[in-house]
Amino acid sequence: MDIQLRKQGHEVFIPDGVPLPEAIRRTTRLAVAAHPDDIEIMAFHGILKCFESAEECFFGVIATDGAGSPREGMYKSYTDDEMKVVRKKEQKKAAVVGEYGGVAFLNYSSSEIKNPGNPNPKDDLKDLLLLARPKVLYTHNPADKHDTHVGVVLRTLQAVRELPPELRPEKVYGCEVWRDLDWLADEDKVGLDVSAHQNLATSLVSVHDSQVAGGKGYDLATIGRRRAHATYFATHDVDVATSMIFAMDLTPLAQDPGLSVGEFVCRYINRFAGDVSRRIEKLV
Ligand SMILES: [Zn+2]
Repeated sequence: MDIQLRKQGHEVFIPDGVPLPEAIRRTTRLAVAAHPDDIEIMAFHGILKCFESAEECFFGVIATDGAGSPREGMYKSYTDDEMKVVRKKEQKKAAVVGEYGGVAFLNYSSSEIKNPGNPNPKDDLKDLLLLARPKVLYTHNPADKHDTHVGVVLRTLQAVRELPPELRPEKVYGCEVWRDLDWLADEDKVGLDVSAHQNLATSLVSVHDSQVAGGKGYDLATIGRRRAHATYFATHDVDVATSMIFAMDLTPLAQDPGLSVGEFVCRYINRFAGDVSRRIEKLV
């Protein structure tokens, strides 16, 4: 089976030049993100597990074309089309530095991703998942505050739910970009230890120069958030990890197509609300 992505201008980049579809078949961990740089911010755990590994291979999927990002400095005069070119080039650099098995650029606009009536993004993701068969899938979390990120997690869950049950990933993690997950009750948090290779962590975010030098301090913010999570994660007295990413376990949503995404996430929010109000009532 070869892969036929649907949107004009799509591309699959394989850093080591292994031909398709074999290049995708070696995947063990796959990340689906909205924009170039989201993978490096939210799915570094998967990248790290596969880096220099003989057994594991990381594959990234970027759903949008990367237009419409904020721009400053030398990028200030860039048009949307010029930004698309720059951001794709940066994502390819990250794939080389992080030794990804490959990156698929689906090339949809944000509005196409957010439109539930357009089946193409979901069908592209389904075809990629059928070929890659990852055991672990990383994507955005449904409590993110960026509409396109939430669109991506909904399309991704839909794609997973349409796979035969035996081909669904063993674990599906909803990760942090535009909203932390430190508000989750500690027992609900998936704490992903990303302490190793801090140089790689910094390089992978910094390589997105149009975003970092272009006006947003994602490099320091991303590394700082991970550091803070490791220190404030309350289940241990001494820092066992120096860098952590928090995730929401979305595996139940992948396994049960009847489970409402909205209700599933609200259960976590209600547990957070209950924890806060119980403590105040106890001490007031
Ligand atoms: Zn994004």
